[in-house]
Amino acid sequence: MNHLTKTDFIQYLNCPESLWLLKNKKEEYNKHKGEFSEFQQKIIDEGYQVEEYAEKLFPEAINIPTANTSVEETKEKLSGIGVSFLQPSFSYSSCFARIDILEKLDDNTYHIYEVKSSTSIKTGKTQNHIIDASFQKYVMENAGYSVSKISLIYLDKEYRKNGEIIASDLLKVEEITDRVNEIYSETRNNIKQAISFINLESIDENICSCYTNTQSNHCDSFSYFNDKITDSSIYKLASIRRNKIEDLISMDCISLLDIPVGYKLSSRQASQIESLRINQPIYNKGNIKKTLSSLQFPLHFFDYETYASAIPKVDGIGPHKHLVFQVSMHTMYEDGSIEHFEWLGKKMELPTEMLEKMQDKTGYNGTFISWNSPFENLCNKQMIESIPNHADYLNYINSNMFDLMIIFKEDYIDYRFQGSSSIKKVLPILCPEPELSYKNLAIQDGSMAMDNWGKMMLDTNFNKDINKTRKDLLKYCRLDSLAMVEIYKKLKLIE
Ligand code: SF4
Repeated sequence: MNHLTKTDFIQYLNCPESLWLLKNKKEEYNKHKGEFSEFQQKIIDEGYQVEEYAEKLFPEAINIPTANTSVEETKEKLSGIGVSFLQPSFSYSSCFARIDILEKLDDNTYHIYEVKSSTSIKTGKTQNHIIDASFQKYVMENAGYSVSKISLIYLDKEYRKNGEIIASDLLKVEEITDRVNEIYSETRNNIKQAISFINLESIDENICSCYTNTQSNHCDSFSYFNDKITDSSIYKLASIRRNKIEDLISMDCISLLDIPVGYKLSSRQASQIESLRINQPIYNKGNIKKTLSSLQFPLHFFDYETYASAIPKVDGIGPHKHLVFQVSMHTMYEDGSIEHFEWLGKKMELPTEMLEKMQDKTGYNGTFISWNSPFENLCNKQMIESIPNHADYLNYINSNMFDLMIIFKEDYIDYRFQGSSSIKKVLPILCPEPELSYKNLAIQDGSMAMDNWGKMMLDTNFNKDINKTRKDLLKYCRLDSLAMVEIYKKLKLIE
């Protein structure tokens, strides 16, 4: 019989088919699942760190080891004299629950505390803390214990580190008993259905319900259940909505080229199909020229790399806030000459030095160009809060920022971008030169950069060559800003 944990149950609620595959054909499931990254491990480790702080709120708690015998050990410890317990385990039928922190109340009922590394109570589709907690209550109550209170412990988004971290300042405790009770009977029914479903001998493996969903809702198992879908399918149509996917499927249009001429599409979607049909990009010369000529020289093509963690590491920073640890900036002057500036933090500290050097370099002149500017904009706003004496400069950058990506949402469409406008999709098409490829870099994306830099700063067992890691980080960030310069130059050629 397949077992059901809280994590399984949430996966079932999101998608029964993907949980069935995991439970019944694990090899196939793993084949389609992306590789487990160091960044995913970082998120898991941070969850444990938040738990460690939460446990400080219960200094007398008895720790129950998470071994195979933990259910029996829990039973034994709960009948003893202790009042609070860490990681007690319960099982009922094929369900298993490990509670983060449990408190025994005077009337012999129990108070469940679930610890979350988020800064709010999540009630969304993929993360729902109320459903999580009601699963825990279901298992405990059916194992013979009465649960009278349930609370969540999570990070206070207003918290800013200031010296030693005090658990009661960092964390918020919020009772959710009523919210859990409201959905409890529904949860009970859903758990029963989940157990029956994952124990089915077979399901229809030739299609899954995301067939009519947009790509961002597909999980890694989509290609297993829909193996005939190719890269030029309707799911790749830029900003396509579910109702349009349903409509196209009802007309038997799965490939982009099946879409009939005259079918109602946005201008970006129509250009994408036209580009595929004629095998050429579609662009609006006049608009591109007008946009580029509005930029004020010098042009500072720049890109930040940031570190964020559930538990802030630097004074002035809050949970999950971005600490900028690196910048690469290519400055282009009106005569076409280019200068490069880069800075990479040597310590886990606020980037005051970086801002001083950047300001020396650029002054209050020119246009700052980024790709997906809301991110750089947000980083600047967070730096205004933590380094207020550079507020004027950061405000200047934000009010003189141009997002180069916008051109690829409106005025330059190529079917080979596959409906995306990310720099990783645009660069290899506009600038296929091997020296501009991310493929051969040791650091391939922002998550890897964050993970490598964070470990280099914090992990006493960091086992990579520090000089090489610094060079790899510099190479990666340099390519991000250089890529914008090269794309800009290509756009200028078609003006
Ligand atoms: S893509 Fe298929 S398997 Fe994945 S979540 Fe959607 S319905 Fe489930």
